[in-house]
Amino acid sequence: MSIKEKIKTAASIIHSSNYIVVFSGAGMSTESGIPDFRSPGGLWSKYDPGEYAEYSAFLSHPEKFWTMHKELSQTVLEASPNLGHKSLVTLEKEYRKLKAIITQNIDFLHSRAGNSNVLELHGSGQTACCLSCGTEFYYTDIQKQLDEGKEVPKCPKCEGLIKPNVVLFGESLPSNVFQQAIAEISSADLLIIIGSSLTVYPAASLPSMALDTGARIIIINDEATMMDHQADVAIHGKAGVILPLILEELRNIDS
Ligand SMILES: [Zn+2]
Repeated sequence: MSIKEKIKTAASIIHSSNYIVVFSGAGMSTESGIPDFRSPGGLWSKYDPGEYAEYSAFLSHPEKFWTMHKELSQTVLEASPNLGHKSLVTLEKEYRKLKAIITQNIDFLHSRAGNSNVLELHGSGQTACCLSCGTEFYYTDIQKQLDEGKEVPKCPKCEGLIKPNVVLFGESLPSNVFQQAIAEISSADLLIIIGSSLTVYPAASLPSMALDTGARIIIINDEATMMDHQADVAIHGKAGVILPLILEELRNIDS
């Protein structure tokens, strides 16, 4: 099938679906200027995650974590939603077909774009929490301490250690979010997998649940994934290019 035919097929599948759930990964955000952490030049090629992003390492050497996180946050805060994110807003607000987005990304670009039901499996860099007293903060408030030269931000209330609400290596996924993701997938008649190589577990186990419940599957990813052969259609390309083309086809069907 040519890419054009695949895009037409994807549009007609979307047209005949009523409860669409999206599962997104790093490839969703690369066009917004956030490189895949696992890619060459990505965050993990510069900072060994075992040393900088492991929960136990965070507790013993929070200054290392914050060196890495400061750089990551700057990239995230400077990024803005791309045409792929915006297309998903259209699918939710205009077509009223998209019911939930399950994401592995911590960049909160889906909610910044305007989607309302975003399930962040790996947490979000938008907020942070004191590990001692549990007070929640906006990251931008914490950042002030870093800008003032503090190596490790401390809770203004109790001087406790503050951790951004992102899931570190060695931490389990937030179970309530994971349960909600499972519930959304079991309601879905179509799952669109975008920008995920489907290699990071347990998040990557969710798409195979959609197969079990009989949902149709569309994959949009730069490279082949291990689920391509099980998808109704797998399109290789960038989300910010492919999604607007699918929407254009969808408009043709409707008119
Ligand atoms: Zn505190």
